[in-house]
Amino acid sequence: MTSSNGNGAKIQIPEIKFTKLFINGQFVDSISGKRFETVDPRTEDVIANIAEADKEDVDLAVKAAREAFDNGPWPRFPASMRRTIMLKFADLIDENAEELAALDTIDAGKLYSHVLAVDIPMAADLIRYFAGAADKIHGATLKMSSETQAYTLCEPIGVVGHIIPWNFPTYVFSFKVAPAMAAGCTMVVKPAEQTPLSALYLANLAKLAGIPDGVVNIVTGYGHTAGATIASHMDVDKVSFTGSTEVGRLVMQAAAMSNLKQVCLELGGNSPIIVFDDVDVDKIVDLALNGAMYNKGEMCVAGTRVFIQEGIYDTFVAKLVAKANAWVVGDPFDPNVQQGPQVDKKQYERILWFIEKGKKEGATLLTGGKSCNRKGYYIEPTIFADVADNMTIATEEIFGPVMSVMKFKTVEEAIKRANATKYGLAAGIMTNNLNIANTVSRAIKAGVVWINCYLSLGPDLPFGGYKMSGFGRDLGMESLHKYLQVKSVATAIYDSPWL
Ligand code: ADP
Repeated sequence: MTSSNGNGAKIQIPEIKFTKLFINGQFVDSISGKRFETVDPRTEDVIANIAEADKEDVDLAVKAAREAFDNGPWPRFPASMRRTIMLKFADLIDENAEELAALDTIDAGKLYSHVLAVDIPMAADLIRYFAGAADKIHGATLKMSSETQAYTLCEPIGVVGHIIPWNFPTYVFSFKVAPAMAAGCTMVVKPAEQTPLSALYLANLAKLAGIPDGVVNIVTGYGHTAGATIASHMDVDKVSFTGSTEVGRLVMQAAAMSNLKQVCLELGGNSPIIVFDDVDVDKIVDLALNGAMYNKGEMCVAGTRVFIQEGIYDTFVAKLVAKANAWVVGDPFDPNVQQGPQVDKKQYERILWFIEKGKKEGATLLTGGKSCNRKGYYIEPTIFADVADNMTIATEEIFGPVMSVMKFKTVEEAIKRANATKYGLAAGIMTNNLNIANTVSRAIKAGVVWINCYLSLGPDLPFGGYKMSGFGRDLGMESLHKYLQVKSVATAIYDSPWL
């Protein structure tokens, strides 16, 4: 199958090679034989039927991961060996970038050119980052007292369950899996049911790279079955989850009610972008629009509440609306397109519901506000003004191309209103005034603060939330440590006069 890229060139849509669960190094059918459909949001057509994991399949995957952890080579390899294999895995991702990018495009409606230029190279890069860290995991030596000598060991935590979302399928896969691999853990990964294709493809690359059987297992299936089984499994030592706050709560409950496994949650957001009077308006208009609409607004860090200081409000909003009107929505394989379809019918309908709610609650629709009236789950980029802080569109995470603009007067007012949310994932501060930037960045309750930029992420920048956006960090050395646990070893010194 091919798709036109808009310049007349044809992009090869890959044949779907992997549709089965990946357990203990083999692609296998589910025990029940059940399959579920994965759908192309551009066309609403079924791409493939994928094996549907249920409790029994997750049990098998956990068993394989347990065996690989307790008796297999991966945690016992010299760390340099894990590093070498991970580097090979990263190279294979680069070598297969086009196929992987096309899979995420047809499965999630993401822009092909962006996945190819950003998601896939970033995924390979962060695997290299953590590969480099694999042989730099050290404990400390402690002189406790004259009669005892001690040291700490940083040991891999064991079997990890990764439950991942659909908005950045390859990238989030890599930022969960890479630090866990470097630490010497083994794992069961559940991709989102909307986007199973790239995770299965990556499993095959992991095998080709030489990652031993049982280290990475992939269970495709639904959240309330496969996902819930991972969260409540007595033999999973840690669960790392990225998704909605509601499901994060369920994961934490399941962990508490089973074996008290450690939990790391990266949840929803409703992030503010605060624009002060002194900025270069044209530049920041672009930043703000991208901050809210990139990836069709399907980002936990989307800057959906844009606070604009009163001196530039009218100019800023006029330019924002003009740019949004010129924003190109269409087939994500076309490099001229800026926004593809929403991931599935459920999200599409949910976003349209929020838009209607905004209108009903009295916000002023400046542009967009409806579906694109074509096949596929396309929605117009939408901007609301006159949004009160307590309106539904200002308090809830919409996860779509919908932005609210709000006017403010003072620094204190901006801080107060930006923080008036249950979430605390990210924030943007746009100003050339160092004093304001420093004051506001300290006062904002969010895990990531971007000053004069937005959406900048890298392997070394810890990423995660405050408040109901979750806890624990992905990326950065913090995330390596969440897959390690510290063992203290104390040794008696027998000729001590005190023993
Ligand atoms: P969204 O609402 O954006 O689809 P979710 O939080 O529902 O995000 O999904 C994120 C991931 O969590 C997906 O892999 C999904 O299958 C999984 N999931 C959904 N429900 C549960 C659950 N009850 N327990 C564990 N995982 C779940």
